[in-house]
Amino acid sequence: MGANRCSECHRRLIDPLSVAIGIGPECRGRMIKGGWRMPKGKWKVEGGRTVLVGVIGKVEPPKAEGKKQKVKHGKRDDQSKN
Ligand SMILES: [Zn+2]
Repeated sequence: MGANRCSECHRRLIDPLSVAIGIGPECRGRMIKGGWRMPKGKWKVEGGRTVLVGVIGKVEPPKAEGKKQKVKHGKRDDQSKN
């Protein structure tokens, strides 16, 4: 077990929730804006310290239903229909 790093930007992760998820807070924020769902931390206070006891949920990619997806510029597909 070496340094925990963000799987997105490879910066070092410091807070336990980020370490548990493997993605740092900045990247999580960016991903949430992009429609990703992030797990929530389950915390408890122990001896005056807040300790992460678990993670609820998981990292889920945005659902593609109805949402616009990235379209490559310069490509027309107006003739692709049968
Ligand atoms: Zn990151």
